[in-house]
Amino acid sequence: MHELAITQSMFNLVLEQAEKAEAKKVGKINLVIGEMTGVVGDCVQFYFDFLSKGSIAEGATLSFKNIPIMARCRSCDKQFELKEFDWACPSCGNMGMEIVAGQELYVESIEVE
Ligand SMILES: [Zn+2]
Repeated sequence: MHELAITQSMFNLVLEQAEKAEAKKVGKINLVIGEMTGVVGDCVQFYFDFLSKGSIAEGATLSFKNIPIMARCRSCDKQFELKEFDWACPSCGNMGMEIVAGQELYVESIEVE
């Protein structure tokens, strides 16, 4: 269910921005979602359609940019995509990892008319 809360705050932000821009209609919303957030684009779209009914954002297209989870090894400094939470470095086998990407969750831009 956490998509509902996320979509709600995203929707509020979009409306706020659209009002500032004195927009008549919101055409497209570009979202960045890191894989680590576990947020499912289809769910966000579903809740958005529901929340935006009757607002200037009704019928807006959501575009999702998915960011894979990237980790950096603390001992050899190599960066790689983290798959299935395998925390061992593929290069040196060390277990000390730092997440450098994949936790993103924000509205990158909106297109209004
Ligand atoms: Zn390493």
